[in-house]
Amino acid sequence: MTLTVLNPATEEPIAELEQAGLEEADAAVARAKAAFPAWRAVAPADRARLLRRLAALVEENAEELAQIESRNVGKPIAGARGEVGMVAQVFHFYAGAVDKHRGDTIPVTGGVAATFHEPLGVVGLIVPWNFPVNIASWKLGPALACGNTIVLKPAELTPLSALRLSDLVLEAGIPKGVVNVLVGKGSVVGQRLVEHPDVAKIGFTGSTEVGRSVMEGAAGTIKRVTLELGGKSANVVFADADIERAAASAPYAVFDNAGQDCCARSRVLVERAAYDRFLEQFVAATAKVHVGDPADESTEMGPLISAEHREKVASFVDGDTAFRGDVPGEPGFWYPCTIVEASNDDRVAREEVFGPVAAVIPFEDEADAIRIANDTPFGLSGSIWTRDTARALRVTRAIDTGVLSVNANTSVRVQTPFGGFKESGFGRELGLEALDGYSELKSVFISTEE
Ligand code: NDP
Repeated sequence: MTLTVLNPATEEPIAELEQAGLEEADAAVARAKAAFPAWRAVAPADRARLLRRLAALVEENAEELAQIESRNVGKPIAGARGEVGMVAQVFHFYAGAVDKHRGDTIPVTGGVAATFHEPLGVVGLIVPWNFPVNIASWKLGPALACGNTIVLKPAELTPLSALRLSDLVLEAGIPKGVVNVLVGKGSVVGQRLVEHPDVAKIGFTGSTEVGRSVMEGAAGTIKRVTLELGGKSANVVFADADIERAAASAPYAVFDNAGQDCCARSRVLVERAAYDRFLEQFVAATAKVHVGDPADESTEMGPLISAEHREKVASFVDGDTAFRGDVPGEPGFWYPCTIVEASNDDRVAREEVFGPVAAVIPFEDEADAIRIANDTPFGLSGSIWTRDTARALRVTRAIDTGVLSVNANTSVRVQTPFGGFKESGFGRELGLEALDGYSELKSVFISTEE
């Protein structure tokens, strides 16, 4: 079957691809399985060199990759360049990590005990449409560094950057069969990878709903899984914060990537004493967000990914809004920056909207802020804005999420572990910690008895 790939800003087709079915999925797994023994045997220094070459090729082809991503996802080109820059950094980081993932020697009686990190084998990497090449690299980097071979399944809506990246993988000298890209439906080929007896692990990023089905499907073969799922993160603004700075940065915490970001701080919790002042400044800053043509250098927000997704996002906004921005006319799956005043019990505050909709919620004091921030099934990210360092530490320790920032909106760095608590998933990506998710720990005892 043919897959037509659209540009969400113009609704025009930008590619026609052959869609893989079950047979092609099995063939991709077989290729990865056949490539595994030779790839695991590559000396660590050589694997590092190949990853370094891949990083350099991503840098050399960065503009092309960014243009592909911008057109396929509707991402502002400036943001797409940043994301591709991170892809190169990720490969550099894991190139440097290949020979630093050390085992231990452990004091035992009668001999020597040592631990080794062994590759898992074939790993299935299933990635979403919101940061396609970026999230693919977070999984590819550590998976390759550890000596695994890969079947990478991009989202149907956004397969183009993964396909281009797979050309660069070969150009870098990584042997054929080590990375295999599978373009097809999640419910068909994704599911097949999840259940396939020759796939040792699934690295998944996407919705909590599909994450649940991945866990279920993986149970049959006791497959390892890493799940990076949805979020409903809080941006907690205390009255003692630099309100101007917090308000100026708040739009980017939730409207970046048109809100299609698992780390979006879509619940903006504001201490009552500063509520009106903050809301006024948040609205003023949001009104300045430049929404429009993703190819324009000054654009800060593009369209949503699809008409269907826009319908879902729109279903969250049915009453008064504190702000509703302008959008270009059709074609394009546009949805405006929207701010609503809400209670934490409202649907807009409970479910992941995955669009440019911020729910502003007042709180009374520190304990109330922590209670509301934690009153969600999710636990991925969040921010605290305060000038009180002790409070910042108390609150960050008390909020049940995997990633937090203080007086900043960032969630992701190559060097630091990233992942969720609660229904936002488990396992960690990025940092040296990701290597543990793509290897098994083996204990070996060698007797010294005569
Ligand atoms: P999905 O969770 O459906 O998609 C993520 C990936 O999983 C895609 O590659 C998809 O393939 C694949 N997939 C779908 N079904 C299965 C399955 N049964 N077995 C294995 N893989 C599967 O997210 P959507 O794209 O449908 O987005 C829906 C919602 O999910 C969003 O509105 C948002 O709330 C949330 N989401 C969260 C993300 C995050 O980073 N936390 C990222 C993306 C979405 P394909 O698309 O080709 O069918």
